[in-house]
Amino acid sequence: MAEKRPDLDPATLSVWAGEGESLVQGATQVPIVYSAAYGYPDVEAWLDVALGRTPGHIYSRNTNPTVHAFEEKVRALEGAPAATSFSTGMAAVSNTLHALLAPGDRVVSVKDTYGGTNRLFLDFLPRFGIEVELCETTDHEQIEGAIASGCAVLYLETPTNPTLKVMDIARLAAAGREAGATVVVDNTFATPINQTPLALGADLVLHSATKYLGGHADVLGGVVCGTPELVERVFHYREITGAALDPMAAYLLIRSVKTLYLRVERQNENALRIARWLEEEPAVAVVNYPGLESHPQHEIAARQMRGFGGMLSFGLEGGFGAVERVLPRLRLAHRAANLGAVETIAGPPATTSHVECTPEERAAMGIPEGLIRYSVGIEDAGDLIADLEQALEVA
Ligand SMILES: *Cc1c(COP(=O)(O)O)cnc(C)c1O
Repeated sequence: MAEKRPDLDPATLSVWAGEGESLVQGATQVPIVYSAAYGYPDVEAWLDVALGRTPGHIYSRNTNPTVHAFEEKVRALEGAPAATSFSTGMAAVSNTLHALLAPGDRVVSVKDTYGGTNRLFLDFLPRFGIEVELCETTDHEQIEGAIASGCAVLYLETPTNPTLKVMDIARLAAAGREAGATVVVDNTFATPINQTPLALGADLVLHSATKYLGGHADVLGGVVCGTPELVERVFHYREITGAALDPMAAYLLIRSVKTLYLRVERQNENALRIARWLEEEPAVAVVNYPGLESHPQHEIAARQMRGFGGMLSFGLEGGFGAVERVLPRLRLAHRAANLGAVETIAGPPATTSHVECTPEERAAMGIPEGLIRYSVGIEDAGDLIADLEQALEVA
């Protein structure tokens, strides 16, 4: 759990990192270890592992060899000293917040976090006597002011869902650290290929592994990376409360991360090309993509991201009616509430990122009903553009 980042390129780490110690009997691939518990010949050897004197496993709710290999892979990619994993992304988010916060604490975040995270902030944390302050997402002065008033946790997510707003991680992490806060960043949209928040000053970075790390829309998972002390606290909460990653899911994720670099590189290229094309379309009112020079935080994105990611959204002049006409015509997109897969996926906020909100709540959050969230896959960009072109004829 505590190794320095090997001096290798992320493309190489995606393929090789984390697997060595879990390989058995010459197998070149990590085994799926379906064993609830691990046996020892005598009490002393058993105690050595139980008390952490020698490495090993006791019970798979705590640790498991396949799950460990997945954690090691992501740990290396994030350049983190430690990592732990979860059954879903929301388990990673909720366990992290519950592990770090206590009654009377204050958490500062922004209005545009993932829908489930937003519900945690509004519905659940306040029940435990935790004060939540949600700032305007791109108002850095307001966020810094809220941080300076004192907070135990600063929770950021950038780029955001579904409007792709970008926050300056280095600037806000510095403010958070000065206030003594633990700085947590949800890096799901960017992936460690495009952005490494720990290198920008964050204390913990987390992912919904369901999205780009999984990349094939067939597995759920979550992961948290950071300093050994903080990861240990989050791990301890998870091993007691039980949202452990399943070994089969860990195996699928290991296999997926091997192609993470290739997939993300292609998705970065495709998304930039499509965003530029959409900008020229008369039926399109607005295109949200951090890689466009027209994006309000393009300069920040260019500074902290190595690529701008595979997520974009665009608003149609014709509003929700136009969205309802255009979406069924897309041949090369699943209409589904997911993102980050090899296939392109499209949907409106009303059935994807902000399904939990009323139209009034979405309007208050600045999310137009005429928006389409478009998760770019690894297909040929020309084919995707042709598909969008024929679909937009009815906009
Ligand atoms: C999907 C998502 C989550 C939640 O992950 P699950 O695996 O669905 O629980 C958290 N944050 C972001 C940014 C997401 O896109």
